[in-house]
Amino acid sequence: MKYFSLNHNSVPTDFPTAVRSGLAPDRGLYFPESIPAIPSGVIDTLDQQDPLELCFLAIAPFVGGSIPDETLRKIIAETLDFAFPITPITNNIGSLELFHGPTLAFKDVGARFMARCLGYFNSQKKEKLTVLVATSGDTGGAVADGFLGVDGIDVVILYPKGKVSTIQEKQLTTLGQNVVALEVDGVFDDCQDMVKTAFLDQQIKDVRPLTSANSINIARWLPQMFYYILAVRSLIAQQKKIVFSVPSGNFGNLCAGMMAQQMGFPIHHFVASNNRNKAVVNYLDSGVYEPKPTIQTLSNAMDVGAPSNFIRIQKIMNNDLIKLRKLLTGFSYTDDETKKAIKELFDDHNYMADPHGAVGYLGLKDYLAQEQDDQYGVFLETAHPVKFLDVVEDTLKTTVPVPERIAALMEKEKQSVPIQNYEELKAYLLSSGT
Ligand SMILES: *Cc1c(COP(=O)(O)O)cnc(C)c1O
Repeated sequence: MKYFSLNHNSVPTDFPTAVRSGLAPDRGLYFPESIPAIPSGVIDTLDQQDPLELCFLAIAPFVGGSIPDETLRKIIAETLDFAFPITPITNNIGSLELFHGPTLAFKDVGARFMARCLGYFNSQKKEKLTVLVATSGDTGGAVADGFLGVDGIDVVILYPKGKVSTIQEKQLTTLGQNVVALEVDGVFDDCQDMVKTAFLDQQIKDVRPLTSANSINIARWLPQMFYYILAVRSLIAQQKKIVFSVPSGNFGNLCAGMMAQQMGFPIHHFVASNNRNKAVVNYLDSGVYEPKPTIQTLSNAMDVGAPSNFIRIQKIMNNDLIKLRKLLTGFSYTDDETKKAIKELFDDHNYMADPHGAVGYLGLKDYLAQEQDDQYGVFLETAHPVKFLDVVEDTLKTTVPVPERIAALMEKEKQSVPIQNYEELKAYLLSSGT
């Protein structure tokens, strides 16, 4: 399998090169040259298939033989080494809980898969690589944990001082080994700008090859197909049309679901559930795509004004808006509506959701209200409520039980390097590592 740049000014490349570089040389996102099809015999007998083997079947064509099958199977087994339960909420709505991984966020799946792929490539071709990532919250923790101890890879995470939650900060700053947290005197956008500048800085690239670890990277984006595949496999026996509502920010997650569907997995419809950052919802309404400056909300992992994976969604649909509208419905919600949904889920359904899952629930409810009752809807619960402790406790006037793993984390001591500006970041990158 080759990957081409969606900016169309770079030569197509293979999986290892695309993973190591993140973005194409022309700054475009990589996209596979073809979308493989799962054999119909497998699709017809989904509930009898081994879940890990199903995931292997889905991802193997994308890896294109660059990792031996047995190694790839092992990578998948390690990536998915926790539960992905669907908790029933009503008779036609379930919560697909993606927060049972090590950092309690769905990004664990992509981060773990990418880390293991890079670890394998590095064992073949000894070239040290630095993963440089800016985080406003969950990405940094998942990436740090996923890459911890991977040979030949250094991880450098930039986070805005005082702007991430205590749990999130502990997840970034207490690991040690090959993970370093840089505490930036600024906001998330400052961190993001510094990372972008570093990627273009030839002086840094000459001594220290860099890669990104956000959903732009195909090795973080594509394995997100796994939980749609696992969910469809376990729901198929109900013989209802399956709908996924995806709380979306950069749209990597939803876009991976669309890939799974294109490969033949029986998914009837998608709902893009947004907070007030709703460029895609507006596009579905008006046909005009207008990225906007980011608005801060309670579901802050979805505070993205210009979603980077929108262009991949366009590509999957061949830029056909009519086709896209048949497959995807969008809704957007305010913080007040989000809090009401957290309360409704708790009071009426005895379910504690985080703000992102609550937005997903709202989108699903609104979509199903217009549909026949031959559909079963799943909203993706993308983070554990404890990660948004203040909002959830404030809304529900109750305490959120803290998982043991988090309690232990809070005891650990924070270690970070303060950074004021780009020059300091550059000096750090040039003087450390390698
Ligand atoms: C990253 C994140 C999202 C958004 O996912 P995208 O793939 O960027 O659309 C939603 N919820 C949580 C908790 C997240 O961390």
